[in-house]
Amino acid sequence: MANEQNFPPPLPPTFPRQSSKSSVPVIVLGCAGALLVVILACGAFFGILYAGNKKADPVVDAYLTLISQGKFDEAYATLHPKFTEAVSLEKFRQIQTGLTEMLGSYQSKSIRGININTLNGVTTTVATYAMTFEKGQATAVFTLIGDKIARFDIDSPLLRDRKCPHCGVALTDFGNFCPNCGKPLQEQPKAESESQASQINNDSP
Ligand SMILES: [Zn+2]
Repeated sequence: MANEQNFPPPLPPTFPRQSSKSSVPVIVLGCAGALLVVILACGAFFGILYAGNKKADPVVDAYLTLISQGKFDEAYATLHPKFTEAVSLEKFRQIQTGLTEMLGSYQSKSIRGININTLNGVTTTVATYAMTFEKGQATAVFTLIGDKIARFDIDSPLLRDRKCPHCGVALTDFGNFCPNCGKPLQEQPKAESESQASQINNDSP
């Protein structure tokens, strides 16, 4: 008995005094909070998708209407200077003629994603669409600076037969230069592109 009294008394437990009664509501509140965050995040996502698309859609629609009517020059005139400085009207006509040959006419589209960025007062919107053409499906990404299209990229299995005339690498977009060898794709002779187009039409993979 006397020996036991020499030992320091046991330290009181340092756990916060939290009964199981109070921890359950904490967990419930935690879950509710997390759920609310998820709901808000989803709401914000669809809100941004809706708001962004509401802004981008009329621009893209007006452009696609002109393209599907074959009014390439008018469509070109609606584009952002960043595009028209990089791609000449002649090249643009080539691209659109090529796209129409390979995809057929444009039919419909639906939004898949949107990304809006404002830097120094300039808003850049990147809208991704699933597009339906006469001959099949494509994914198109339109980049708008302000309310003008500054870039577009179209990818489709129907376009994967395109090859660089210099190095033969498959081309998936319609840039001015080959992404593989860096040579300009602009100087493709007309006769060659015609024979390529007829090849694509006659070939079965
Ligand atoms: Zn190349």
